Amino acid sequence: HPGFDVNAVRRDFPILAERVNGKPLVWLDNAATTHKPRQVIERIAHFYAHENSNIHRAAHTLAGRATDAYEHAREVVRRFIHAPEVSEVIFVRGTTEAINLVAKAWGGQNVGEGDEIIVSHLEHHANIVPWQQLAQAKGAKLRVIPVDEQGQIRLDEYQKLLNARTKLVAIGHVSNVLGTVVPVKDVVQLARQRGITTLVDGAQSIAHTPVDVQDIGADFFVFSGHKIFAPTGIGVLWGRREVLEAMPPWQGGGNMIADVTFEKTVFQPLPNTFEAGTGNIADAVGLGAALEYVERIGIATISRYEHALVDYGMQQLGSIPGLRLIGTVPGKASVLSFTLAGYTTDEVGQALNAEGIAVRTGHHCAQPILRRFGVETAVRPSLAFYNTFDEIDQLVTVVRRLAGQRR
Ligand code: PMP
Repeated sequence: HPGFDVNAVRRDFPILAERVNGKPLVWLDNAATTHKPRQVIERIAHFYAHENSNIHRAAHTLAGRATDAYEHAREVVRRFIHAPEVSEVIFVRGTTEAINLVAKAWGGQNVGEGDEIIVSHLEHHANIVPWQQLAQAKGAKLRVIPVDEQGQIRLDEYQKLLNARTKLVAIGHVSNVLGTVVPVKDVVQLARQRGITTLVDGAQSIAHTPVDVQDIGADFFVFSGHKIFAPTGIGVLWGRREVLEAMPPWQGGGNMIADVTFEKTVFQPLPNTFEAGTGNIADAVGLGAALEYVERIGIATISRYEHALVDYGMQQLGSIPGLRLIGTVPGKASVLSFTLAGYTTDEVGQALNAEGIAVRTGHHCAQPILRRFGVETAVRPSLAFYNTFDEIDQLVTVVRRLAGQRR
């Protein structure tokens, strides 16, 4: 693959040299979480060795270093997602927290009895449950965009769901079960024409496809650091300035106030309004380092390479007797879910683990979409740019052997 040296990339990830059950680790569980390059690990170690302090509040040197590092990371996030303003980038714990923040702060203010919230059948539980809770609390209704047999959302059906009571459309960019790349730009545009607010869940797109929040056009875009080679416990809520500024703070406390008396509090402007308390400073810095690392390789290069891997994997797995691929939308990203006749998904996962191959089995926190395809669980190999064609072959060899031994 021109311009991309996968072996050089692999040397950046120490854990890829691990052995599991006597075999070299084959990590095909990237949709659950990704590994960290030494550039991220070393950046975090450097923070604790040379910069550690709380931020914003002190005149001393380390507070300055920590604040600079944290704010630099915010600027890297802005650049990575092409946000217009750095103050629109809010650090949170992850996708789940970002969605809950919007459901509580924005939803609490803007959703009322009889209103409707639209999600799709593809959503992860993180983009279902907070809206369901909001709907229950407010007497609002959750509406669901159906998907077709390949696993793409039905835009025609979506348009029928939009009406005067629709307050929000919350849509996943890439399905964590099917790998479907959803035409979020179209989804957003159809909502915005009607003045409806939109949120895009970028947990599964951020590491696999270029993201430009201005091009997508949504009001909110959210993602988790750990899905893009950064630590757990750090993620991003991006929102349009005017939408964020019209929202009440979610949590109250230090770091987010300008002035406090017992009578009232004046809040800080963005982004601090939504960053109450001491945040995950070091891991935000680690997220910045991870995005800079991805920038150096190029997300377009990564995307091209991964699509070649996915196409190869689909073709190879698809030729195994008794194997059913779930999610077959052309151009899908990074995920190769399947079931194998004669085996539970757990048995397939165990057999792969015995060979050092890590895949997720289970419902993948997205039960509605699996049930849409008539199953409760699936085997889910999921790729990152450090995976190789050889690793796909190893996966296929084990699954093919199981298929051949079918009872
Ligand atoms: N949305 C999608 C599409 C996901 O894949 C995930 C993680 N599996 C989440 C949301 C939740 O992310 P987190 O657990 O990092 O908050």
